[in-house]
Amino acid sequence: MVLRLSKLFLRTLREDPADAEVASHRLLVRAGYIRRAAPGIYTWLPLGLSVLRKVERIIREEMDAIGAQEVHFPALLPKEPYEATNRWTEYGEGLFRLKDRKGGDYLLAPTHEEMFTLLVKDLYSSYKDLPLSIYQIQNKYRDEARPRAGLLRGREFIMKDSYSFDVDDAGLDASYAAHRAAYLKIFERLGLDVIPVAATAGAMGGSRSEEFLHPTEIGEDTFVRSAGGYAANVEAVTTVVPAEIDFTDAPAAEIRDTPNTPTIETLVDAANQLVPRSEADGGAWTAADTLKNVVLAVTLPTGERQIVVIGVPGDRGVDLKRVEANIGAYLPVAGEITVEAAGDEDLAKNPLIVRGYLGPGMSVGAPLLGLEGAAKLLYLVDPRIVSGTAWVTGANMAGKHVFGLVAGRDFGWDGVIECTEVRAGDEAPDGSGPLETARGIEMGHIFQLGRKYAEALELKVLDQNGKQVVVTMGSYGVGVTRAVAALAEANHDGKGLVWPRSVAPADVHVVAVGRGDEIFAAAEQLALELEAAGLDVIYDDRPKVSPGVKFGDAELVGVPTILAVGRGLVDGVVEIKDRRSGEAENVAVDKAVDFVVNAVRSS
Ligand code: ATP
Ligand code: MG
Repeated sequence: MVLRLSKLFLRTLREDPADAEVASHRLLVRAGYIRRAAPGIYTWLPLGLSVLRKVERIIREEMDAIGAQEVHFPALLPKEPYEATNRWTEYGEGLFRLKDRKGGDYLLAPTHEEMFTLLVKDLYSSYKDLPLSIYQIQNKYRDEARPRAGLLRGREFIMKDSYSFDVDDAGLDASYAAHRAAYLKIFERLGLDVIPVAATAGAMGGSRSEEFLHPTEIGEDTFVRSAGGYAANVEAVTTVVPAEIDFTDAPAAEIRDTPNTPTIETLVDAANQLVPRSEADGGAWTAADTLKNVVLAVTLPTGERQIVVIGVPGDRGVDLKRVEANIGAYLPVAGEITVEAAGDEDLAKNPLIVRGYLGPGMSVGAPLLGLEGAAKLLYLVDPRIVSGTAWVTGANMAGKHVFGLVAGRDFGWDGVIECTEVRAGDEAPDGSGPLETARGIEMGHIFQLGRKYAEALELKVLDQNGKQVVVTMGSYGVGVTRAVAALAEANHDGKGLVWPRSVAPADVHVVAVGRGDEIFAAAEQLALELEAAGLDVIYDDRPKVSPGVKFGDAELVGVPTILAVGRGLVDGVVEIKDRRSGEAENVAVDKAVDFVVNAVRSS
């Protein structure tokens, strides 16, 4: 195909769009690939569609290669299946809900587990029908709190989602492994560096789960890895739990006056003055000896607000995202929850919380504040708070702290939660060395859903013994439009986009530079020959556009090879430039097509 710039529906822009924070967003708009229609919602122009289709094709080929079959669901769906799994509520504000003219409730699908499950239930009834993997490439709708960075976090976006159906756990493991391998191939073919990391299952439920993160500074996900090969999303990292300590001989806890010590720093200073500790006993007090009790406000999917107190070693901050990912097990309703530091209003409603001097209940099983009439607040602790460890912590009285409060003897907790900041240098949970932290973009996510959806929607088949069994499922997503953005982000320079061959909107960008008719005739001829050789060609045939503008546009648009027909033509040569390296070479006109074809084939 030859796309002629004189006709192509394209306007490149000299100015960056005002709302663009990242290079991919800026350049995809400026180079005429996408246009914003509303916050987080984009229109695809011809060049953008061309890249999108190439990304989709690679994904389709790898899905087909593992035997997954393509289907296509509506995006506009009735509420009922999502009510059956409770996601109509659980999804919270992220769901686009709407009504039809008869008042019926509908939604724009944020993901399609329910529909796939019901379709299989409709058509299949025996173990002989399984395993089955089906997928679609389709629009998803999520009313993201912070649509961001153009296509990276949209409110309408394209996802490839597949679902596997198996009779037993071994089958699910095999389907999961096949998808995992296919994902690695997809990203390799796209030329996008990704690392599979352990993930939490989040709102989906289920057990084993991994995310494919593309490492980049602009990523919203923080992950950790060790030299020994451990990699996990920060939400999913587990703490190395210290051994429990025998507290039979531990001295009794003592309450002391510690006026004006509402912060960990002031407390540590006061402790070192009031109760200096000998080297033999562990040396000077540090923040790690204190137990900090942090008051958080949790907003449930129902909109209700609940206070939760979390006890952590005083040298560690609380990571709210880790709390959000892991607190679900202790809340009355599943679904999308947000966690923030409790505000003045929350504290005003709980007057027994003594700010700066909050401690756990003073005996195992006591209400959090250890005070008569105190409300029972949910009290969770970091995994480092194990039985027998002794702490300096608030005494629930202004200006007082308690020393030597022993976990499991003097205070208890409602549960343990992964909630503290993970730091570079922390040990990997599998013993593979210290962790380093990095940022990334989540490109794909695979889950072993297990039987949650099949149970809720009663997807059962007859097994070998004629018994009804609940099917076990996996769910696997790739962000297709996000992949276009991540590729643009990973492949650009100061002048514009620099597409990898696998997804470039064309193989070669022919530019006619100068005025003479013979230049345009030769350029036209080359464009047609390149097309005949099977390449996708952009041909800048615009008659009255300056060479500077034409080259600028070619570099902005980012096709891997630029072929310029201009002044050299009188000497029988054209200039062929590699967009990535910037290297240019004069090539005889009659060798130019072969030269470009070789360049395309060899990369
Ligand atoms: P995130 O944590 O980035 O919000 P998610 O975990 O909610 O993503 P999944 O439900 O796992 O996303 O969806 C599968 C894939 O769809 C993601 O791995 C990502 O590539 C893509 N995706 C999710 N949300 C968006 C979005 N708002 N815009 C573009 N792509 C998205
Ligand atoms: Mg995800």
